[in-house]
Amino acid sequence: MIPNFRKISIKFKLTFVYTVLFIVAMLILDIGIFLSARIYLYNKADENLQMAEKMVGELLRVGDTTDRYSGLYANDNIYMRVYDDENNHIYSSQGFIYSLEFNPNDLEFKQISTENHDLRTQTFRIPSKDGNVYFLQIVKDMYSENDFLHLITLVMGGMCFLGMGTSAFMGYVFSKRMMQPIVDLTKAAENISSKNLEERIEISGSGDEIQRLAITFNNMIDRLQEAFNKQTQFVSYASHELRTPLAVIHGYINLLDRWGKQDEKTLQESINAIKTEADNMEKLTERLLFLARVDRGVNVLKKRECFLDKLILHSIEEARLIDEKHVYILGGRSEVVVEVDAGMITQLLRIFLDNARKFTPEGGYISVSCWETEDGAKMMVRDTGIGIPEESIHSIFDRFYTVDQSRERSYSGSGLGLAIAEMIVNLHGGKIEVRSEVGVGSEFIVWFPDQKKQERKIQEQQISNHIPID
Ligand code: ADP
Repeated sequence: MIPNFRKISIKFKLTFVYTVLFIVAMLILDIGIFLSARIYLYNKADENLQMAEKMVGELLRVGDTTDRYSGLYANDNIYMRVYDDENNHIYSSQGFIYSLEFNPNDLEFKQISTENHDLRTQTFRIPSKDGNVYFLQIVKDMYSENDFLHLITLVMGGMCFLGMGTSAFMGYVFSKRMMQPIVDLTKAAENISSKNLEERIEISGSGDEIQRLAITFNNMIDRLQEAFNKQTQFVSYASHELRTPLAVIHGYINLLDRWGKQDEKTLQESINAIKTEADNMEKLTERLLFLARVDRGVNVLKKRECFLDKLILHSIEEARLIDEKHVYILGGRSEVVVEVDAGMITQLLRIFLDNARKFTPEGGYISVSCWETEDGAKMMVRDTGIGIPEESIHSIFDRFYTVDQSRERSYSGSGLGLAIAEMIVNLHGGKIEVRSEVGVGSEFIVWFPDQKKQERKIQEQQISNHIPID
């Protein structure tokens, strides 16, 4: 049964293709050599035949019918015989052994193949000076030329077989070597699982496509490992964050079970604590769900044109309602139009204001302002709080990151607020800048891009640089 070619390994396919190509190349070469040699030898034979006619014919033209020159061409396997115009045989050269017909009316050049001989022959009509007419029949036996052609056919055939074997062997060895990195790659890929993301493919210094494939593969596993680690960390942080409020709720339920039902004060205290922890859990799960949805690539953005200053005013009024211990200031009164998801911007403001409130001592100032820029709009939330240490500034946007446990013992927080804030800003194509000094306060400045303004700015730049607009 012939195996399905598509299912055969690449190694064997390459070997097969090498060998077939080699045979085709050899055949073309061999046929070319054989035909050239044959044409050359046959032309040469015909030339010799013409020369013999010239020489012997010269004698006959002067009426000399002796066979002086007829033996001269025996070495070239050229034989001849002479007849007069009455078909009388005058002489034959030595070695003329061919049973050929003599026909004075057939003066055409001929190729005759008998059982053992390949003959090229022609009969020439030669009028002599003495008034007689002679017929010279010349025969060239091609056996030595044919022997030579047989020999080269045999040699070339043998070489072709030898070459075929060598090319099959070399093709197999080379394709095996070439395929080795792919075999390694496959093995490494088979060994990689969620429990073993450490495995990598060894990279050789060849710089070829396979090396590039190996590098790409390793990079892909790096990214997979990073994503997997993040995922595992995320799950462990999330469960850890949920465990604390659950433990508090459990503690209060036990307390109520034992004493609280009769004691009015303990009852109220427990209800308040359980409510607070349940609120915390709700907030935390909402944030986790938001992060997971955006991570999954779900389009959560519903953009429309709105007034940023109005959104800020609304958030400040809300903050003033729940917090009377800080002074909230609305900086600037001008209208700023932005194309954003209003719900998300309100959530963003809540995160910044929550943090400002948590980390600003009582009586401190919290101000929010916004203004237009030439390529969009900016919004700033500033407080006079405890500030963020310089070494922590680059980490505060990481998920579950909190600066220092000791300074935050009194505040509830999961370290997800700023991660969500950054995500919201990123979804709008904007940027966040943080400036903070410990003991002085913090500033969070958010930039929202405006596509129309950006396009206008580029056009203006092109005009000022005299670049044609297309
Ligand atoms: P959380 O959701 O717990 O408030 P965030 O991700 O919002 O956490 O903030 C991360 C950390 O950044 C906080 O633990 C806090 O230490 C620091 N931080 C954020 N905002 C401020 C601020 N306005 N003043 C001082 N520290 C801040």
